[in-house]
Amino acid sequence: MSFAPIPKTGIDPGAARLSDYGRARQDFTWAKARALLDGLPGGALNIAHEAIDRHLATPRAEKLALRFIAKNDSVEDFTYRQLAQQTARFANLLRRLGVQRADRVFTLLGRQPALYVAALGTLKAGAVFSPLFSAFGPEPVVARMGKGDGRVLVTTEAFYIRKVAPVRDRLPGLKHVLLVGGRTAKAPPDALDFDAELAASAVDFETVPTRPEDMALLHFTSGTTGKPKGAVHVHEAVVAHNVTGQFALDLHPDDVFWCTADPGWVTGTSYGIIAPLTNGATMIVDEAEFDAERWFRILQEQKVSVWYTAPTAIRMLMKLGVEPIKHYDLSRLRFMASVGEPLNPEAVVWSVKAFGRPFHDNWWQTETGGIMIANYLTMEIRPGSMGKPLPGVEAAVVSKTADGRVEPIAEAGAVGELALRPGWPSMFRAYLDEPERYNKCFADGWYLTGDLAQRDADGYFWFVGRADDVIKSAGHLIGPFEVESALMEHAAVAESAVIGTPDPVAGEIVKAFVVLKAGREPSEALRKDILGHARLRLGPAVSPREIVFHTSLPRTRSGKIMRRLLKARELGLPEGDLSTLESDSR
Ligand code: ATP
Ligand code: MG
Repeated sequence: MSFAPIPKTGIDPGAARLSDYGRARQDFTWAKARALLDGLPGGALNIAHEAIDRHLATPRAEKLALRFIAKNDSVEDFTYRQLAQQTARFANLLRRLGVQRADRVFTLLGRQPALYVAALGTLKAGAVFSPLFSAFGPEPVVARMGKGDGRVLVTTEAFYIRKVAPVRDRLPGLKHVLLVGGRTAKAPPDALDFDAELAASAVDFETVPTRPEDMALLHFTSGTTGKPKGAVHVHEAVVAHNVTGQFALDLHPDDVFWCTADPGWVTGTSYGIIAPLTNGATMIVDEAEFDAERWFRILQEQKVSVWYTAPTAIRMLMKLGVEPIKHYDLSRLRFMASVGEPLNPEAVVWSVKAFGRPFHDNWWQTETGGIMIANYLTMEIRPGSMGKPLPGVEAAVVSKTADGRVEPIAEAGAVGELALRPGWPSMFRAYLDEPERYNKCFADGWYLTGDLAQRDADGYFWFVGRADDVIKSAGHLIGPFEVESALMEHAAVAESAVIGTPDPVAGEIVKAFVVLKAGREPSEALRKDILGHARLRLGPAVSPREIVFHTSLPRTRSGKIMRRLLKARELGLPEGDLSTLESDSR
């Protein structure tokens, strides 16, 4: 909280989707948000209709809906009409295969057009879409598809051979495999050629009139704190995707929107597919992985106006400094947002220097299906805060009383669990096959998020840490985020992760794992200097006792630091589910 607020300049509140926050919160109802959408006759609601087909009756029909940039820079464009036709073909194909309402269709694909066509075509057909991250190996694939009872899998022949063939006998429910990009003699005899089947399908399909409460999406959580859970979402979620895309990302139909998340994670579906399309925007999809120069080039060439990314990527950009950015014309870029992990205040302040505007942090989870707390366009940003609850969202910091009751804490600044009042449309309806775990998330009319937070006197929410990651030291509750952010302020530190290690006197003490900026070498003197900086900044009770230098930190494939793994290794405990682990730092 030591950084000055960032004043708002150069923004026309009249053009903003959310400018009078108090009024919007007062006037908002989810019923009004629902009325922004079409719906289907008889009270039916289908995400794919809202995302694509409803635009066909408007001039947006011929507008660019999806621009796909391949790794080799070739571009493939889809207007809303073309997307409607391709997804209708896929829905017809599913019907031909005998796929019924509520059957599960999985994808195991990189970011390529087939993934987007399959996602929306599945929803059109009334089936359930479940995306798998393409980097998963056979075990994570079989675990998720087995649990989710996948009936259809859309993948490539290469992925099939490497990742599915070894576990196919453990997937008795998998009836149809569709191979994108052709097939050879190596493919299983029963696999179908996705492209040929699609080409042979009709371009008209009457969207299945799903009920708002019908299951639409199955998303597995990131696995940051343990074994991933399968979160069930319904068609009504689109009401939240649409309106939170407006409130939190300020999406307008004339925007060129780039969400860098992969649809293997919820962000890449809620905001990487659904919200930009329901809002009639043009969305950019890049097949390639993070590359700073490529990203700046895409922002410039595609004239991206709204950009939604994650702290990991932002920290990687920070490592390069502000100089490279100056070589690009990013004048079209008007709004930048971040999600997935806490965004260190240092990163927000840096973004103003680098881009002339701040990254707007927002908070949500796989379970919430959509953005809940955000730094919206017109608000004054307090670097390090995740912002304020959106209209329609009631958030509180709660405590558990001795008799197990959950109560909001009125006092500003107190640390407690972040809780939300259930009832928003994109709230998860179940953890697949884990009813007890689901029920445990609710108490006394609140949904308990598992994250700890503070609310300040002006209603800004501040992330403290995941309940699992919080360190208890000599009677203090220490949030890793605060310590990590302080470490990042040191000129040599690129990123860090802190954990608690057992201590006979204090209970736990803080241990930090630090990655240095390019060109900085680990040394005893540097370690002492960073320890000294942290002590000055945080005081002796909270600052790390020990610092170890690492070349990288273990993180999930969606980019989140896995503190639980650092801790398990430190304590010699079992490492647990590593299905989403991306890189290993040892
Ligand atoms: P799992 O539940 O399997 O351990 P996960 O919680 O990382 O994994 P997600 O649903 O992808 O899975 O991530 C949601 C979590 O990410 C939040 O509960 C929170 O801990 C963290 N998070 C997301 N956005 C922010 C943010 N802006 N600030 C701080 N933390 C955030
Ligand atoms: Mg979680």
